[in-house]
Amino acid sequence: MAPRSSTATWLGRPVAGVLFDLDDTLFDHRGAADRGVRAWLASLELDGMLEDHVEQWFTLEAFHHERFQRGEISHVDQRRARIRAFLPGWDLADDAVADDTFAGYLACYRASWSAFADAAAALEQALDAGLAVGILTNGEQSIQETKVRRTGLASYGVPVFASSSLTAAKPDPRAFREVCDRLRVAPDACVMIGDSLRHDVAGARAAGMAGVLIDRGGRYRADEVEGVDRIRSLAELGW
Ligand SMILES: [Mg+2]
Repeated sequence: MAPRSSTATWLGRPVAGVLFDLDDTLFDHRGAADRGVRAWLASLELDGMLEDHVEQWFTLEAFHHERFQRGEISHVDQRRARIRAFLPGWDLADDAVADDTFAGYLACYRASWSAFADAAAALEQALDAGLAVGILTNGEQSIQETKVRRTGLASYGVPVFASSSLTAAKPDPRAFREVCDRLRVAPDACVMIGDSLRHDVAGARAAGMAGVLIDRGGRYRADEVEGVDRIRSLAELGW
């Protein structure tokens, strides 16, 4: 790929490339997971309060997916650990049974997949500005590519760099530098946009890049994001 030329800037700094996180930046993972888990729970008829089950599901997801991101367990093992912890009274010792049970949730989750309304325009605008554009995401390559394809975002031809195919996962600076190399842009001319302060913003900064926090729901307090470039919508990027 030939290096691109662009006159784009971010906060007065010339920009040649932009990386987007996928989950909860371009792709509405939390919304799909929330709708999906509620539909799945309705079929399970568990005792207790629905909201408690939903909260427990997301707590387990965050905990075990983080273990996968750190390379402690495989992607399939984090799913098995989640489903066994979520349904402790069920006999899920057999991997095939655990996988089959998790598949019930997955079907509901996948039926709810969608990109954020501003995602396609953000990719198009960055490409139109002459920027090298990539998606840098922690996850399994084929799954993340399927999300991009199924939500229509693949039509922009933006490459997906998932941590399962990289030397390291975000926030490790090696992940960012490896993708900059692949896109043939210098890290200090590249901006990372993502919803995680630690994975996306701090990681990008450690790699010498600019990091922009997308905080759609206003979940971060002002004191938590002091000195951080924060946007509420990708439409604010305006290269
Ligand atoms: Mg994210």
